[in-house]
Amino acid sequence: MIAKAGSLLDRERGRFAETHPASRKLHEEARLSLLAGVPMTWMTMWAGGHPIYVAEASGARVVDVDGNDYSDFCLGDTGAMAGHMPAPTMSAMAASAGITTMLPTEDAAWAGEELARRFGLPYWQFALTATDANRWMLRICREVTGRPKVLVFNWCYHGSVDEAFVTLGPDGRERSREGNVGPQVDPAHTTRVAEFNDIDSVEAALAHGDVACVLMEPALTNIGIVLPEDGFLAAVRDACTRAGTLLIIDETHTLSAGPGGCTAAWELEPDAVTLGKSIGGGVPIGAYGVSTELAERIAAAEDADLEDTGGVGGTLAGNALSLAAARATLSEVLTTDAFAQMSALCESFVRGVEQALERFGVPWSIVSLGARAEYRFCPEPPRTGAESAAATDRSLEEYLHLYLLNRGVLITPFHNMALMCPATTEEDVNRHTEAFNAALEEICA
Ligand code: PMP
Repeated sequence: MIAKAGSLLDRERGRFAETHPASRKLHEEARLSLLAGVPMTWMTMWAGGHPIYVAEASGARVVDVDGNDYSDFCLGDTGAMAGHMPAPTMSAMAASAGITTMLPTEDAAWAGEELARRFGLPYWQFALTATDANRWMLRICREVTGRPKVLVFNWCYHGSVDEAFVTLGPDGRERSREGNVGPQVDPAHTTRVAEFNDIDSVEAALAHGDVACVLMEPALTNIGIVLPEDGFLAAVRDACTRAGTLLIIDETHTLSAGPGGCTAAWELEPDAVTLGKSIGGGVPIGAYGVSTELAERIAAAEDADLEDTGGVGGTLAGNALSLAAARATLSEVLTTDAFAQMSALCESFVRGVEQALERFGVPWSIVSLGARAEYRFCPEPPRTGAESAAATDRSLEEYLHLYLLNRGVLITPFHNMALMCPATTEEDVNRHTEAFNAALEEICA
């Protein structure tokens, strides 16, 4: 099947070249002024040799400069979970009191209150990205516990957070993640790593007594989706409490589970939640919320310079525009009803994939989390990051991504994630199902 995918890939590349001349021309011009010809190097990961250039993105649709239109299941890798340019967010931005003023507007407290209602944590702060929210929470946790290390899970991703670029080597020890660009210190010194769904590995790491906090997604979403097994998250909470370690739940992607992410859906009790991306409708924003107890510990850390140049903050953080966008997005777009609709469509997406896998006897699996689904090239859904990493197949991914793209369907350029937004329709889902069936039929023939 894999050899077949390789030969079909050449055909798909030819088809992409034929139907994307205007994108190719813009990309060639961009090479003169942009590193790798793209505004951010990860954009080179799109299949086809260069990214498509967007002429228009609205709702769940993208139209490129060659006039091709797409059902977009990538949705900015979650940044556009609210759909592209949602009307309430666009109007709120136009009516915003300012863009950035270093002064609060009333939207900030509204957003804090709404996030408190959704996630059950009373006090919030705003950043520009989820990466920033994570970075700042790690500092705060080290400050209030007086402990140096953080614990993350093998093959996690929490944004460009130095401490999180660590995996477990074959000897079971922490090592800098392959390809880690110029780390300031070897992250094996800052970080302990446990395996998801393996509570013994968590207990063993915490037993050293030097871990300030666990930073985790409640389900891994950046190495495929790895769901927690029954009791795992409760056991992590319990282990953290016993070890005096704080628990940060990163809901940036798992917000797909519902209006209050997995924290609300699964009644989790973290000390802090971090999130970002989608809550501003795609306008840059990050946020972190803390429990009353953690808020008190922060207030008591008198030597910590949280106001000026202590390492937590940025002049654009908490800006008026992001918060106007967040208020509109949370109140009118990413609502409880919208999540119900997105999750129902995602079930349809999953059924379509399952039926195709069965029809062609392909031994892959698909896992969903509310509005998000992901297929993986292994027969059973992986239960750890390591298992999921082992199921990666870059050439098969490239074939599938390009095959789908050539038939008007975008999924994330990294692994096989598909996300529904409030504007996604059954037609979009059918478009994916048809293209996915056709892609399997060709490689299985
Ligand atoms: N946390 C998680 C779980 C993520 O997946 C990501 C990005 N994919 C981030 C944090 C960082 O988000 P951003 O790139 O917006 O900083």
